[in-house]
Amino acid sequence: MNPRNMIILFVVIATGTIWYFTMNNDPVADMIVYNGRIYVMNEQNDVVEALAIRRDRIIVSGTNDEILQYYQSRKTIDLQGRTVIPGLTDAHAHMLGLGLSMMIIDLVGTRSAEEIAELVHRQVEQTESGKWVRGRGWDQNHWPVREFPDHTVLNRVAPDNPVYLTRVDGHASWVNRYALDLSGITRDTPDPDGGRIIRDADCNPTGVLIDAAMSLVADNIPEPTTSQKRAALKLAIEECLSYGITTVHDMGMDLATIDVYRDMIRTGDAAFRLYVAIDGVGDTWEHFLQRGRIAGHARNMLTVRAIKLYSDGALGSRGAALIEPYSDDPGNDGLLLMSEEELYNVTVQALENGFQVCTHAIGDRGNRVVLNAYERALRRVPAHNHRLRIEHVQVVHPEDFIRFNKYGIIPGMQPIHCTSDMFWAVDRLGVERARGAYAWRTLLDRGSIIAGGSDFPVEPVNPLLGVFAAETRQDENFEPEGGWFPEQRLTRDEAFRMFTSWAAFASFEEEIKGTLEPGKLADFVVYPDDVLTIDVSGLLTIRPDKTVLGGKIVFDRHDEYALD
Ligand SMILES: [Zn+2]
Repeated sequence: MNPRNMIILFVVIATGTIWYFTMNNDPVADMIVYNGRIYVMNEQNDVVEALAIRRDRIIVSGTNDEILQYYQSRKTIDLQGRTVIPGLTDAHAHMLGLGLSMMIIDLVGTRSAEEIAELVHRQVEQTESGKWVRGRGWDQNHWPVREFPDHTVLNRVAPDNPVYLTRVDGHASWVNRYALDLSGITRDTPDPDGGRIIRDADCNPTGVLIDAAMSLVADNIPEPTTSQKRAALKLAIEECLSYGITTVHDMGMDLATIDVYRDMIRTGDAAFRLYVAIDGVGDTWEHFLQRGRIAGHARNMLTVRAIKLYSDGALGSRGAALIEPYSDDPGNDGLLLMSEEELYNVTVQALENGFQVCTHAIGDRGNRVVLNAYERALRRVPAHNHRLRIEHVQVVHPEDFIRFNKYGIIPGMQPIHCTSDMFWAVDRLGVERARGAYAWRTLLDRGSIIAGGSDFPVEPVNPLLGVFAAETRQDENFEPEGGWFPEQRLTRDEAFRMFTSWAAFASFEEEIKGTLEPGKLADFVVYPDDVLTIDVSGLLTIRPDKTVLGGKIVFDRHDEYALD
């Protein structure tokens, strides 16, 4: 090395060292939390007692003595032995859908048609005539008479408003006479493909619409306004924070909704982190191809650098594309929504423009087609850090598991879908194929990591229900005994990593999120008990005491140990 380079090297090292010591030896912090059981969730599985935070970052972690003796802060929280884990990420969810569903009448747990009519009545009293009244969550299996209702009881309470009430599973709706008339549905209206209009003995529609028939009415419900979207996103954010979720990977947003969220950040109404996948090919996609991706906007509150595509439908309605026909419908092997060629073309376009692709694939054929398209696209555009994703990955052919890790394709999975579907999944798939269904352990054994999500509002928001499902493969009543294909269960630690560090990797954010190491964002959750070791049943009921995002308390259940 010549002397000049030696000098340059010396200066670089000296400057770096001085910078390092000033950054780390400045004893003033903005927040200190101590006396906790703090799971760093790093590779070494460190557990520390205290963290010091400056601005939105963790600056140091260690024992109570190490932190309290050296650092000072006006805000010091004695955790009194409580447990802290990194802020949770839901790697597959729908914020607007959640918020909008929270703005309509909640019918979950109602016990009769009359009880529902009373709730509708109250809503009608506050609604202008002619305007829609909506609800969701009814289930006639919980009523004294377990049969579909008809529109008469709704007509009585809502003669001048269209009423649209979605069943708990989202596959049926119950509407009143006004809504049927407004949609032009009469005894002469034929059942649409993939749907059914329930009728009485005289062929007259009774007010219950199944699957594709729902849209005959739903298509007449106006799109939410900007202010409704804003209110909806605000509700969804509050709901997430109350469950310890600090980041959501939103699987399908349009430009208008992204703009609403950006405006909320600007006005301080969005203390949250969104990683957005653009909702398919269309205007929003064209817009972002032109302007380029958004990365880490407003101190990491918003990133838009992915596109969401669909390869097939869902298993419940037999729309998922299978290699062999459905075991309970031998003439049917499901449905591809995009061809391999189309998936390939969009993936090439995304890779060339620095976007990630997240493709919904449920059946083994649906997954194979995406794997084929991704592999071809990667040969055409050899991007080494592409992190292409497949969402759901519910049924995989045994020969295809290895292709995920081989090509660095990340499975995004929702453990709770497994426990929601398991009681009928074997009917659809047969036992042999079911072994390759929701096969988390097989994917981990092949070297993959899994990004964990809930797919809310289809499933509940609480990520600990996902952790419970991943660990037990049982429903909340601990059925079936021993778990459904228990060889696929995950450990508690693995299940939490799906919702922390692995999810962070799936959004290119492992440098700033997913663990509580110094330098990372101060996003964390405080629980009253040790969520890594409590009996698994405790996961069903435990709730966060606090959620901290970027060093600020954004959710607080109790005040008694709040601040000194
Ligand atoms: Zn989804």
